[in-house]
Amino acid sequence: MLDFGLVQEALQERSLLLTRIAPHLVRPVPFLYPLTHRFWERPYVGMGMLLYDTLGLTGGRSNGVPVHKHLFRRGTLRAAPSLRDDVMIGSVRYYDAQVDDARMVVNVVRTAAHYGAHAANRLAVVDFLHEGEHVVGARVKNQEDGTEFAIRAKQVINATGVWTDETQALVTDRGQLKVRASKGIHLVVPRDRFQSTVGLILRTEKSVLFVIPWGRHWIIGTTDTDWRLDKAHPAASSKDIDYLLERVNKVLKRPLTREDVEGVYAGLRPLLAGENDSTAKLSREHVVAHPVPGLVVVAGGKFTTYRVMARDAVDEATRAMDERVPASCTDRIPLLGADGFRAVWNRRQRLADRSGVHVARVEHLLNRYGSLAGEVLDLIKARPELAEPLPGADDYLGAEVVYATTHEGARHVHDVLTRRTRIAIEAWDRGVSAVPVVADLMAPLLGWSHVQRDNEVAHYLARVRAERLSQQQPDDESADAARMGVDDILPVK
Ligand SMILES: Cc1cc2nc3c(=O)[nH]c(=O)nc-3n(C[C@H](O)[C@H](O)[C@H](O)COP(=O)(O)OP(=O)(O)OC[C@H]3O[C@@H](n4cnc5c(N)ncnc54)[C@H](O)[C@@H]3O)c2cc1C
Repeated sequence: MLDFGLVQEALQERSLLLTRIAPHLVRPVPFLYPLTHRFWERPYVGMGMLLYDTLGLTGGRSNGVPVHKHLFRRGTLRAAPSLRDDVMIGSVRYYDAQVDDARMVVNVVRTAAHYGAHAANRLAVVDFLHEGEHVVGARVKNQEDGTEFAIRAKQVINATGVWTDETQALVTDRGQLKVRASKGIHLVVPRDRFQSTVGLILRTEKSVLFVIPWGRHWIIGTTDTDWRLDKAHPAASSKDIDYLLERVNKVLKRPLTREDVEGVYAGLRPLLAGENDSTAKLSREHVVAHPVPGLVVVAGGKFTTYRVMARDAVDEATRAMDERVPASCTDRIPLLGADGFRAVWNRRQRLADRSGVHVARVEHLLNRYGSLAGEVLDLIKARPELAEPLPGADDYLGAEVVYATTHEGARHVHDVLTRRTRIAIEAWDRGVSAVPVVADLMAPLLGWSHVQRDNEVAHYLARVRAERLSQQQPDDESADAARMGVDDILPVK
């Protein structure tokens, strides 16, 4: 789309995340771009890759990942033996970076709280407070118990993604930003279903498709379609799943089937609506607006550029304030767990010996908690039974459920199974066998009664059933209807 500025900004942020802000969570991943045309394609793609390598450089510093490399057919097959050799003439290998987005968000919130921010979850803004034309705060509803209260503020920043149209409408009918929801789904399949030491990026008619290494799994995605149904629970339909399988099977020696799919998940991209009808062609750029005094709105953008979006929104808000606010310094603030991460990583064998936890598990903890992994190991020291892996989800330990509840704001079993961990998409049974154990570990920490504990388990099982059912439906409408009815928030009893 010739959005060079946008690509450069994203690459510079990626480099900052890899090297300073979140080296414990963001890691480089090699990808192959298979070439199908002789002569013109290699120099054309090579130029693009060169640009990608150099746009991310800031002040001569490394951009945090190795540069691209050309491979011939033999080298390509050595890197990805399961690729069909008749669909490519060679490839270009380049590096990108990946992150578990939910872990990243929790880490950003915890870091902000560490520096004095107040964070609250499960509070919905139901209205804004006004003094004349000015917005002076928000009226919020606690979704756990239904109570409402007011929060006053000098400036309010509205950053509600795909809900921007609705939240803007609470304050003005002169809403400046229009946001469209574009649904993207991903499939999770076991790593052993095909052999490759690298990820893949494949061209499709509208966009590209990624096959991304993810621990003991592959993630395959994504789709890009307009979504006008329930925004809280975008549902993957059978058509979406078949589309991804069909596209990836074009390049694999042994095709994947529905039986190979361990998990499926769907998300919504908040895209700034323009004239273009195709969501794949809308820019991923972000925009900050100030529709009425006291209220700033930020929307669009990419996950990678979250820090720039936040900086721009706060700058806009503080411009309207009387007191002087120092310039943003978030490009120099490592997230919690980043400081000392490499030193702790080097000591991982010693940590394993001292804690009695296998070094592979210590590595897993370091990759999730960085230098804070010691806090999880301390829980195990105090209660050795917390070193037990969860049933059906061997990658995760009981201690992680406790830590998610005491340190990471988890309020319900689905918070733990879907976001603090990824059991809901990584386990064959989607967390069905883990959920009673998770509920038992959380219950005493959150003061749940027996009824509440059972309610949590039943609710999670209903959610898994609804998601499975929705994924068998032929289209968005029927998938949405099947997914509806199981809400996310449980009332406190
Ligand atoms: C399939 C897919 C693949 C993607 N891949 C990439 C990628 O590779 N790289 C990349 O950089 N980006 C990627 N993105 C984009 C990225 O995920 C989004 O840009 C980002 O998550 C948007 O974040 P947001 O906070 O602006 O909005 P959202 O994530 O939509 O968050 C909005 C929040 O507002 C809250 N909210 C809504 N209404 C209210 C209310 N009334 N009161 C209080 N809170 C409210 C919601 O609960 C929600 O938490 C991808 C997105 C998808 C769907």
